[in-house]
Amino acid sequence: MAGHRQIRLGANERSTRNAIAAMTVCFGVVSVFIVLSDEGPRSSVSTVVALFIAGSTVPVAIWWYLRGRLRTLMSPWFVVYADAGVTINSVLFDSRDLAFFATNLFAVIGYFASFFVGRTATRLHLCLVVAVTAYIAWSALETGQIDGWSVASRVAIGLLVNVGGLAFVSNFNLEVRAVMRTQEDLVHTDPLTGLLNRRGFERDVDRLVERVENGEEADGIAVLSIDIDSFKAVNDSHGHAAGDEVIRLVAARLSASLGEHASIARSGGEEFTAAVHAADSTDMHELGERVRAAVSRETDVIPVTVSVGVTPLDRSRPEPLMSALRTADSAMYRAKRAGGDRIHTADSGAI
Ligand code: GH3
Ligand code: MG
Ligand code: MG
Repeated sequence: MAGHRQIRLGANERSTRNAIAAMTVCFGVVSVFIVLSDEGPRSSVSTVVALFIAGSTVPVAIWWYLRGRLRTLMSPWFVVYADAGVTINSVLFDSRDLAFFATNLFAVIGYFASFFVGRTATRLHLCLVVAVTAYIAWSALETGQIDGWSVASRVAIGLLVNVGGLAFVSNFNLEVRAVMRTQEDLVHTDPLTGLLNRRGFERDVDRLVERVENGEEADGIAVLSIDIDSFKAVNDSHGHAAGDEVIRLVAARLSASLGEHASIARSGGEEFTAAVHAADSTDMHELGERVRAAVSRETDVIPVTVSVGVTPLDRSRPEPLMSALRTADSAMYRAKRAGGDRIHTADSGAI
């Protein structure tokens, strides 16, 4: 699913969320102005509906301000909500001219859909814009409020703003996403093994922690430090290229044994770190043992073994990952000093 990954938003995430919160309220304010104007909804039911929609923007804006988390791939609820609000309001306005004018509000929603939700949502949004514009045009002609050419000019302007503007934005957006993704991969990946590098690992562990905090995984993350035993000898006797091959092989075996949800990095020359969900210390011991066993095969032309240190990630400590890595490293060195090809577990903080 290479094309469907979240891209981490930078320092502007906060101000963009605030802007969305402010714009949401503005949609509500527009709605109130229209209700108060001579051109707004005529019947009392329509007025109540318009005011209800206007009022609903306040909690939604507060949500954006306090809790909303802007992602590059958001669920489409906000687009559905905003589209429904603008559609209902435009249909309720007495003045068809003002309704045409209000369809320009769809453009703002379209930009949001294009940046933060995706292509399908953007296309469905555009279909809605065309349908609403067509309905307003039909009702303007039907009621005789606006003459044919004036309707045509308003339809053309509305579609230019909505479809034309979005054509530029969404294509540019796709290009920017592709560049950002490539950059992210380069910055966070180890070129020899395709595993994460140290920077990518730190970021990916945040993802694991988030899954725990969201209740998608049981509380408990094991951090592993894994070091190939006597690797210098492999280079010395078989050459650097063969050494590289062994590093790649170990990387592949680590990935296979830890599963797709694990974060695995090549943190140094022949050193790896991993983080994976594990419920308790028995789980962690089994995990370390599984990793150790998965690396060595009797049939290997160049025999390879690893020493493994395992420790739980203690999220109550300051800099939890750094301290867990230090603890896992010391456990790994203890395993190495005891002869290698074994695992040592350590409680968090036990160095
Ligand atoms: P120990 O059992 O104590 O871990 O010994 P070791 O030989 O595995 O560890 P040491 O730190 O003494 O040596 C690591 C070696 O790994 C030295 C270095 O030349 C080699 N190395 C580091 N990065 C690479 C790499 O990318 N490719 C290859 N082929 N070798 C590398
Ligand atoms: Mg080593
Ligand atoms: Mg080493």
